[in-house]
Amino acid sequence: MNARKFYDIPIVGLKPGVHNYEFEITDEFFKEYGTQEFDNCKALVKLELEKNASVYTLKFDIGGTVDVICDRCGNTVVTNLWDEFNVMVKVDDNADELNENEEDPDIYYITRIESSINIATWIYEFIVLSIPNIRECAPKSDGSSGCNPDVLNMLENMKKNSDPKKDIWKGLDNLKGLN
Ligand SMILES: [Zn+2]
Repeated sequence: MNARKFYDIPIVGLKPGVHNYEFEITDEFFKEYGTQEFDNCKALVKLELEKNASVYTLKFDIGGTVDVICDRCGNTVVTNLWDEFNVMVKVDDNADELNENEEDPDIYYITRIESSINIATWIYEFIVLSIPNIRECAPKSDGSSGCNPDVLNMLENMKKNSDPKKDIWKGLDNLKGLN
C-alpha cells in the first residue's frame, strides 16, 4: 500500500450521516512534497465527513505542533497548529470538466464511480496554511523578547555599523575639509 492510499476515505457503502476520522501526521508525510519550512511535525488532523445524497461535507480540524525557525534570531520555535477548513465534495458525472472550471478551491467534484475520496493533498495544504506567517520566539513571561540575546546583539551591532546616517556625516566632513 503506497503512502497516499492511506489517506483514501472509502465511500462505497458508507452510510449517510456523520463519520469521524483521525490522522497523525509526522515529517514522513511531507517527504513526497519536498523540503518544507518546518520539521518535527506532530499534527493531529481530525476529519468529520458528512455524507448526504450527492454531497460530502468534509470538516478538517488541524491541531498539534511543528518546529519553525524564528525570523529574528534563528532559534527553533515550537508552533501550535490550530485551524479549521471545510471542503465540499459533490458527485457529478462531469466531474473532470467541473473541477477545471470551479473557481472555489473548497469545492471538488467526483464521479459516481469513484470508490474513495483521497484527502492527502488537503491534509498537506491545510497543515501548511495552519502555520502562522509570523514566526518569532514567544516573549518571556516578563514581556521581554524570547529571542536568542547573542544573535540580537550581533544584529544590533551590524545595524549600527551600516547606519546610512553615519555615511552622510562622513560625506559632510569630507566637504568641509575641501573648503
Ligand atoms: Zn527568536
